[in-house]
Amino acid sequence: MIDKPITIKRVHARQILDSRGNPTIEVDVVTDTGALGRAAVPAGASKGKYEAVELRDGDLRNYHGKSVLKAVRNVNDVISKKLLGFNVLAQSEIDRLLIELDGTENKSNLGANAILGVSLASAHAAANSLNVPLFEYLRVNSGKYILPVPFMNIINGGAHAGNKLSIQEFLIAPTGAKSCSEAIRMGSEVYHTLKNILVKKYGVTAKNIGDEGGFAPSMKSTSEALEAISSAIEESGYRVAKDISLAIDAAASVFYENGYYNIDGERFTPLQMIDYYKQLYKKYKVISIEDPFEENQFELFRDLTRELNNRVQIIGDDLFTTNIKRLTEGIRVGAANSILLKINQIGTLTEAFNTARKAFENRYSVMVSHRSGETEDTSIADIAVALSCGQIKSGAPARSERTAKYNQLIRIEEQLGDNSVYPTNKIGLIEC
Ligand code: PGA
Ligand code: ZN
Repeated sequence: MIDKPITIKRVHARQILDSRGNPTIEVDVVTDTGALGRAAVPAGASKGKYEAVELRDGDLRNYHGKSVLKAVRNVNDVISKKLLGFNVLAQSEIDRLLIELDGTENKSNLGANAILGVSLASAHAAANSLNVPLFEYLRVNSGKYILPVPFMNIINGGAHAGNKLSIQEFLIAPTGAKSCSEAIRMGSEVYHTLKNILVKKYGVTAKNIGDEGGFAPSMKSTSEALEAISSAIEESGYRVAKDISLAIDAAASVFYENGYYNIDGERFTPLQMIDYYKQLYKKYKVISIEDPFEENQFELFRDLTRELNNRVQIIGDDLFTTNIKRLTEGIRVGAANSILLKINQIGTLTEAFNTARKAFENRYSVMVSHRSGETEDTSIADIAVALSCGQIKSGAPARSERTAKYNQLIRIEEQLGDNSVYPTNKIGLIEC
């Protein structure tokens, strides 16, 4: 299609701040035609053990050890030299070069943060050089685009908040909406109604928020959170599970210890945990459960998926870490039926897309995700549309690093018009 390669003329990284005020890396890639691609890399708090390595300097006199100047130097001194003159349109070759240059399994040499910054900025530069939006440049299917159902995290717990909730995320998914922008409106309405409910019950401090923009009231139990959200949905004029579904990310590795799960002041065996999740489905119609178990317990993920008979989406986040090898093992065992896609867990766009393809081929759904430490970078909105996976999570419908992604989806939906559909009453492969 395109005969003449567009070559990379400049690669430059710098250190910027993320939404938690920690340093992170931003990369610029400039082509010989003058197109600029820019990408910033997010950071997790409840990170999976098997994630690619995020390089931090560990110099306690500099950002409490969190500076990323080594990763910046790796881009500016090592990677940039190799990439100058490279065809920016050859994304998989760029990513292969980055992987080879690093030479380790977990990208610990150059840093997955350095590598992802370059990988993603190159894709932006390529799209800009062709004058097409990123979602179009990266798209994997033909036909109409499927816009994602936004999973909005409106109560924060676990490692993202200073309260006693063990479960990390309580999310709403406006499955009954007719469009993505309507879903975002519904989510925002419920968010504000929830604020009023929480303030009435827990006092003004309930307005305090966690890392992903959701409220962090001094609640103590999962049911307390799900009850409050259910009330907020109803008070906003919507029906629970029909218009708006409930979902959780347990991030269970955080509260797992020596074979037991310490949840909301109780100590549960794995079997009791399975029962616990079954009750949440029965009582609150929770449609999607992420990381219900510790990140090595493939068999427990399998058992829960079976017990719930694929009526609930069981997502592997820390379980799979966007890694095709771990996903392949999950498929072999029958663990979970869905994967969370976080490109910084693996480090290159090509690898993340290969993992997503593997999931689709095996009837696993895919949800594209932000991290708890984010920036104003909106790439994940385009990536969710490019994959047409139908699901995204980007935190609460509040705080600019979260809304930046939702706002980008509003723009994309407007731009696509009739060339897109919103998957009303559908969560991945599940009708609801
Ligand atoms: P993290 O959490 O970005 O802090 O790892 C997000 C998640 O667990 O989904
Ligand atoms: Zn998670």
